[in-house]
Amino acid sequence: MKIEVLLKGHLATYANCYGILTDKAAIVVDPGECTTNVANFLKQNTDKTRLILITHAHYDHIGGALQLRNETAVKIAIGKNEEFALSDRAFNLSGRFTPAIPPFNADYVIEDEEEFTVGDITIKAYETPGHTVGGMCYLINDCLFSGDMLFYETVGRVDLPGGNATQMQDSLDRIMWLFDDEIKVYSGHGEVTTIGHERKYNLYLR
Ligand SMILES: [Zn+2]
Repeated sequence: MKIEVLLKGHLATYANCYGILTDKAAIVVDPGECTTNVANFLKQNTDKTRLILITHAHYDHIGGALQLRNETAVKIAIGKNEEFALSDRAFNLSGRFTPAIPPFNADYVIEDEEEFTVGDITIKAYETPGHTVGGMCYLINDCLFSGDMLFYETVGRVDLPGGNATQMQDSLDRIMWLFDDEIKVYSGHGEVTTIGHERKYNLYLR
């Protein structure tokens, strides 16, 4: 499995966007913008099973999703309790720092602890509210795509609409309890880290 950084998170415009590639699957995680780079990742892998996978519906993670789907006909998946925010600007925060995102729906909604397959990739989803109402973390092999819940030595904000500090603590406890030190964490912003590193150095987890 190869993981590419298709968009390196840029200030308030877009988050990290990852491209996951195997022999039989091509997945884009959180396309905050539909750049040529992001679109080409899916266009160059039409022989594989493809998916646009979203951790949570903040504008910097979904801003390019609709255009990407229109250009590639690849379907969009998001957490069941987060889908509403794709078409609710009060929750996706679009129109403040970037243009308003036209409302759209997902093609698939995912439930907590759901396990599903894309080509030769098995994805396990964990609903981790706190940063948003129904944000998800996705475990793929030994890699956790954590959205804006867990970052390198910090954690996500809980003061935005739908945020909740108690839920965030529960979500963090759950993730830290579930996963071994070796699990790599690909977050929405900043550098890749590991569960072990965060257990040791993340002040919010003590
Ligand atoms: Zn966010």
